[in-house]
Amino acid sequence: MSLPLARFVLPSRLFSEAATTGKRNGRLISTLKKRKFTSAATHRAQHKAGEEVLVVVGAGAAGVFGAIRAKTLAPNLNVVLIEKARPLAKVKVSGGGRCNVTNGHCVESMMLAENYPRGHKELKGAFFNTHGPVDTMTWFSDHGVELKTEDDGRVFPVSNSSSTIIDCLMSESTRLGVSLQTGKAVITASPTDGGKFLLGIEKRTPSSVEYVEADYLLIASGNGKQGYSLASQLGHLIVDPVPSLFTFKIEDPQLADLSGITFPKVKAKLKTESVQRNIPQLTQVGPVLVTHWGFSGPAILRLSAWGACVLSRTGYKGTLILDFTPDVHIEDVKSILTQHKNKFVKQKVANSYPTEFGLVKRFWKYILGRQGLLGDILWASISKDSLVSIAHMLKHCDFSVRGKSQYKDEFVTAGGVPLSEISLNTMESKIQSRLFFAGEVLNVDGITGGFNFQNAWSGGYIAGTSIGKQAVSAKLCEANSASNF
Ligand SMILES: Cc1cc2nc3c(=O)[nH]c(=O)nc-3n(C[C@H](O)[C@H](O)[C@H](O)COP(=O)(O)OP(=O)(O)OC[C@H]3O[C@@H](n4cnc5c(N)ncnc54)[C@H](O)[C@@H]3O)c2cc1C
Repeated sequence: MSLPLARFVLPSRLFSEAATTGKRNGRLISTLKKRKFTSAATHRAQHKAGEEVLVVVGAGAAGVFGAIRAKTLAPNLNVVLIEKARPLAKVKVSGGGRCNVTNGHCVESMMLAENYPRGHKELKGAFFNTHGPVDTMTWFSDHGVELKTEDDGRVFPVSNSSSTIIDCLMSESTRLGVSLQTGKAVITASPTDGGKFLLGIEKRTPSSVEYVEADYLLIASGNGKQGYSLASQLGHLIVDPVPSLFTFKIEDPQLADLSGITFPKVKAKLKTESVQRNIPQLTQVGPVLVTHWGFSGPAILRLSAWGACVLSRTGYKGTLILDFTPDVHIEDVKSILTQHKNKFVKQKVANSYPTEFGLVKRFWKYILGRQGLLGDILWASISKDSLVSIAHMLKHCDFSVRGKSQYKDEFVTAGGVPLSEISLNTMESKIQSRLFFAGEVLNVDGITGGFNFQNAWSGGYIAGTSIGKQAVSAKLCEANSASNF
């Protein structure tokens, strides 16, 4: 569906001016390439007097949810969703195709906010209180989607298919009359003298840019460079975007032999040269998995999220210190090893080892190898010093982090529009009125477990509510002034 548009030619000079406006105010992190335009058409949304236009940039989770909410509150508002690729593409692939919609265990806003390495301080207030995980679950079930909460708190559709979420959102936006325009990218944005936005929208067809005036603008462009550029053109700063949620590449040829081993509970600590002070979140406890290239698993992913910025500064180099027996004190580890030695003096160290630590044989042999102990040695020959160093190795095993690998099930970007430039109870820009942001374009990112989509639903809902309310009151004002005339 598209809006009825009036066409007139705009000099291409205006396009370049609009493209560079942001350089005065914000730090433009990606410069728009200059293009040759054979013709440029400017479109103005033709609408009845008093009918305002909201343009939403990006039909991802945040943009679609925001559009639905705004249109629900203000049915007379023209809501236009511009999507350069496929709508809800990330929802489709999310959670291994199942879409981990939110988290059902962290529903209280203070506790919930702790799951956001960027945003944990700011999101403790109104943000999740206005629309948190319970609201998300209620919304989807009210719209016919049955959800289930798994043991670890992750919430999925009962269908185990992300298509259920997509179908629900798309049919609701169609029902409400949201206009979805795909294959178009919003590439420029500038404020007009009348308090509106002039948007340059590029169609897939080369050399074709249309211009649209919008009363409200919601930028929900995810981690796309164009979205950051639009924010910058409208005066916002951009915190350098860096990847979050990745696995660690480890320099240790012997580790590859352990590939596939899972440790149910490990205490993992990340150290980098640039971080001298003790940051509590750079120690995480949870399952760790050995992969072909290093370490993965929930504890590692959480470390990657909390360490995303420091690691990007060090070129993803650091030291990972793993405690494989976090519930056993070092002195108890030593005494368990001593008791084992005394009991199994005639056994080979490689074949007999304490079961109390819950370790697999392959890993035990690895630990012995790092101590330079050959498996054929009998327990009787193990010195007290060797026992102590095995105990230390189990409690404090260090690995050199030498890079990162993408975690295929979920990845997200840290950085974007700083939260300090947004009013979190409305998602409106503090720099430009009637400009709103939601989702990953903001400097917010969560750990795995449904927290990233929750940020998108919450932000979209709050922005949509503010826009809807503003549009309704604008309509009322207009009606009042017309009746007074
Ligand atoms: C493989 C994978 C799996 C994931 N799984 C989960 C999960 O299970 N649970 C979870 O909570 N999170 C998950 N995430 C993270 C989650 O997908 C994102 O946090 C979320 O999609 C962000 O929503 P958004 O609407 O802000 O951005 P996006 O979903 O990225 O949507 C932004 C949209 O804007 C469009 N766009 C950008 N610029 C423009 C422009 N200039 N003009 C027009 N359109 C534009 C893009 O094409 C895109 O469609 C996963 C991420 C990945 C990559």
